[in-house]
Amino acid sequence: MIRADLIVDGIGDLATLADGAIPRVGDAMTELGQLTGAALAADKGRFVFVGSTRVLEREVRLRPGGRRVDADGGSVVPGFVDAHTHVLFAGSRPTEATLKVRGATYAEIARHGGGLFSTVRATRAATEKSLLDEATRRLRGLARHGATTVEVKSGYELTPDGELRLLRLIPRLQRLTGLNLVPTFLGAHAIPPEYADRADAYVDLVVRTMLPAVAKANLARFCDVFCEPGFFTVEQSAKILRAASALGLRPKIHADEFVFSGGTRLAAEVGAASADHLLESRSRDWAALAAAGVTAVLLPVTPFASMVTKPGLGRAMVDEGVAVALGSDCSPNSWVESMPVVLAHAVYSARLTPAEALTAATVNAAHAVGEGGHAGMIALGRSADFALFDVPSVEHLGYRVDPVPVLVSRQGKPVPSR
Ligand code: FE
Repeated sequence: MIRADLIVDGIGDLATLADGAIPRVGDAMTELGQLTGAALAADKGRFVFVGSTRVLEREVRLRPGGRRVDADGGSVVPGFVDAHTHVLFAGSRPTEATLKVRGATYAEIARHGGGLFSTVRATRAATEKSLLDEATRRLRGLARHGATTVEVKSGYELTPDGELRLLRLIPRLQRLTGLNLVPTFLGAHAIPPEYADRADAYVDLVVRTMLPAVAKANLARFCDVFCEPGFFTVEQSAKILRAASALGLRPKIHADEFVFSGGTRLAAEVGAASADHLLESRSRDWAALAAAGVTAVLLPVTPFASMVTKPGLGRAMVDEGVAVALGSDCSPNSWVESMPVVLAHAVYSARLTPAEALTAATVNAAHAVGEGGHAGMIALGRSADFALFDVPSVEHLGYRVDPVPVLVSRQGKPVPSR
């Protein structure tokens, strides 16, 4: 007899995403491992049963004091993996929406000292307590909407001490929120104002001072670079990412978002874990991504919030055999705390099917953050991370624009509602 401290039965549609290649590419992105009339059980934070309600009745017993949930025909999916966020910042920039409406671009707002640079000023001035409070609120928002694993980047202090300070907050945020957080060093988010005309000197600071300190203290799994004209060139990005690789941090790249500059190609050349954004990437570079095993992380709320439209990008990439994953890009520029909303944009803008979008937000996103085989699936022995939605089938995610789960479990425990 299997003992469980959590049982969910009466599940109308359960997407396990458990069997198959990681990451999924092409047609395999529609293989969700669905079970109908299903039940699941967890004990001490891990799945101990996934199968039919009938077998559950025979094989599983609830421990005294355990919790039984009737899904009432609802649908269960693995806890979402948000493969790309900038949640660790201070302040907000609501006036920017007005500037955008009047025609200003992200890069123009940044050039005039607003945008990202106003967030750098606010973050540098913020106390650790207020940074923890603000980021915890955003992470809990993501959790309430079903995310249980979240990548978190530094990148809003742009000094050696400041970037280390931000990275050191991530394990504390993990304890405060209970979420599985994956830290990424993004010291090369922008050239800070103190180095305005000395970009190469800042690159040297990142390579010689920041990266060795991050690696020595084991504060990040990945190193990301904002590779874009006016930020970091392909050559500067390559220098940073090669230095990171040598220190054991896997590369990620913000690539070809505003204009085409070659970041996608660089991702393939340095064997990056992921190339992210890719709005202006060229299809000839996608084959290189696929061949090098680089996951394309699409952030479909960002073009929406930046008022640019690139319909069909995800569709074309899946059709080319690229492994596609999703992230929120939650930041002061595109402030979204809901992976279901990201899925809807992935469907209606990037033009993934709902099944492909679900794969991209679970197993493939887990792969993009180094959690493949651990997160993003419902399977025996894995962390009991899942979301229950009051919808009749999992295809309603991505189809409906903003569904909210009725229960989110992280390691078998409900995530706090606030
Ligand atoms: Fe980003």
